[in-house]
Amino acid sequence: MQRRAAVVGNWKMNGTIAFTQALTSAVCAGVTERDHNHTLACDVILCPPFTSLSTAQHHLAGSPVRLGGQNISEAIGGPFTGEISGSLLRDAGCSHVILGHSERRTLLGEQDALVARKMVAAFRDGLIPIVCLGETLAERTAEQTLAVIQTQLTALLALLPTAEEQRAHWVLAYEPVWAIGTGRHATPDQVQEVHGFIRKQLTDRLGTTIASSIQILYGGSVTPDNAAALFAQPDVDGGLIGGASLKAETFLAIIDAYPKNF
Ligand code: PEP
Repeated sequence: MQRRAAVVGNWKMNGTIAFTQALTSAVCAGVTERDHNHTLACDVILCPPFTSLSTAQHHLAGSPVRLGGQNISEAIGGPFTGEISGSLLRDAGCSHVILGHSERRTLLGEQDALVARKMVAAFRDGLIPIVCLGETLAERTAEQTLAVIQTQLTALLALLPTAEEQRAHWVLAYEPVWAIGTGRHATPDQVQEVHGFIRKQLTDRLGTTIASSIQILYGGSVTPDNAAALFAQPDVDGGLIGGASLKAETFLAIIDAYPKNF
C-alpha cells in the first residue's frame, strides 16, 4: 500500500508572534508553490507553541500546510490549570498533536501509560496523534533498543481504539533520545532496523493492511544534508524535525528530500 509521507516541524518552546508570522508565511509559500508544481511528495504539519497556534492558523489558511500541537492533557476539560485539551487544539485549528516526546518523558516524567492515555484522548477529540518512541544512549549501548521500543509500543497498542479508521490513521515517530538536538543522527541502517521492527510489531498486532497504512517518521538531528538518505529507507515515511524546522530554507529543503514516486 502506498503511504503518504509527512514532514512535521516541532518548534518546541520557540516562536513569538512575529517569528510565527514570518516562518509560517515562508513555509506556506514554499509548500503551496511545490503543491501547484506537483512536486510536493509529503504532508507538511507545523507544531508551534500553543500561544502561536492562532497566528499560524491565520497564515496557513488556504495552503496545504496543517497545524499540530505539542502536547495535550488526557482530560476532556475542566479544572486543570495550565493544561490544554484535545478539543481546545481542534478548536484552534489543529489536526495533529505530538505526544510522548522524549523531552516530556525525561524532563516531566511522562511514562508509557500516560502517553497511551493521551493517545486515546487525541483520538477521542478528533486529533491524529504523532506518538514518539525512542531509546537513550545507555539503552542502545546495552543493546536494549528493540526491547525499549517494544515496551513503549505495547503500551500504545493496549489502548488503541478498535475503530479501523483510527487504527489505520495515526503516526509513530522513532526518535532516539541521543540523536535529538545533538547533531548526531542515527544512520539510515539503524533507522531502518527500528522502523522495520515497528512495522513488524504493527503487522503482527493489527494485520498487514492497517500496519502498512501507519506513518512511521524518523526524528533526531535531521538536516537537508542527511534527510534524503534517511527518507530513502523503505519504512521511513518522513520526519519529525526540531531545530531545522525553525528556518524556512532548511525545513523546505528537508521537504524536498522526500523521494518523489509519482
Ligand atoms: C525533536 O525535538 O523532535 C527533534 C527531532 O529535534 P532535532 O531535529 O533538533 O534533533
